[in-house]
Amino acid sequence: MLVLDGKLAAAAVKEVLKAETAELVKKGMPAPHLAAILVGNNGASETYVASKVKNCEETGFESTLIRLPVDTTESVLLETIQSLNNNPSIDGILVQLPLPKHISEEKVIETIDPRKDVDGFHPSNIGRLVQGLPTFIPATPYGILLLLAHYNISTKGKHAVVIGRSNIVGRPMSILLSSNIPQGNCTVTLCHSHTPNLKELCLQADIVVAALGKPEFVTADMVKVGAVIIDVGITRVEDATAKKGFRIKGDVLYQDVAPKASAITPVPGGVGLMTIAGLLKNTLQAYQNNRG
Ligand code: NAD
Repeated sequence: MLVLDGKLAAAAVKEVLKAETAELVKKGMPAPHLAAILVGNNGASETYVASKVKNCEETGFESTLIRLPVDTTESVLLETIQSLNNNPSIDGILVQLPLPKHISEEKVIETIDPRKDVDGFHPSNIGRLVQGLPTFIPATPYGILLLLAHYNISTKGKHAVVIGRSNIVGRPMSILLSSNIPQGNCTVTLCHSHTPNLKELCLQADIVVAALGKPEFVTADMVKVGAVIIDVGITRVEDATAKKGFRIKGDVLYQDVAPKASAITPVPGGVGLMTIAGLLKNTLQAYQNNRG
């Protein structure tokens, strides 16, 4: 069984980006610049944004973190995004989700200039993805493709079962795996909360992508021997014995599923780190599209 190590694969992606950025700076060009907006102080969001900023620094990118209080109005947030849209020194914009309930995520995503939408959530970018046109691939599915590529996992002709149909992970993942791209050409089954025979479908899968946000949901009796298991789930589960008072759990019961799998991602240390690699690649792409 092969452990698909997100730390190693992300480091390899970042090494290339770092060299490309150093080359630009050597020529007197500015470095790619990512702006992140964080509304409120959700603990998990704080961690994700801090990690994105740190990874920008490590790669030689510029980053700007804009922190807004939890009671920020929707119009103030939209104005903040507009000013970043209009700022030529900003290449990529991300708004950390989830947002407070009084703000429409849909409006926020639609306000980001699609040319700076490095999370790849804007409807026009999703439309391009569906049509196989150049676009920003949503960071988590992009990270998974990069991980599969890093480990030379063949996907062509395989049956992939994706659990979860969210706009940011499951649905774009299902589209990409079925697309005619190097890490695609699968026959894909997209499962969700109304899928009655999930276990039967998973048992037929050569590749399982678990993205439902239910800790340790995928158990050994649901996977066939030799399957490739991609665990996207990240849930904080309270645990008084842990230093921080919680542990991070994936959607897969790792210790039971791993012995049956041919390859599997750990949580933490798998898809999460690759998501940042995908985001950084999109940011450099935005820079090349808009300023290159
Ligand atoms: P979401 O809540 O938006 O969507 C969950 C999906 O799972 C829904 O489509 C729902 O239909 C499906 N689902 C729920 N219960 C189900 C069940 N019993 N059987 C089958 N399907 C079921 O979640 P999301 O934003 O896609 O995130 C999913 C998980 O991935 C979460 O744990 C999240 O924290 C994690 N995540 C990780 C990364 C990363 O970088 N590793 C990035 C984004 C999300």
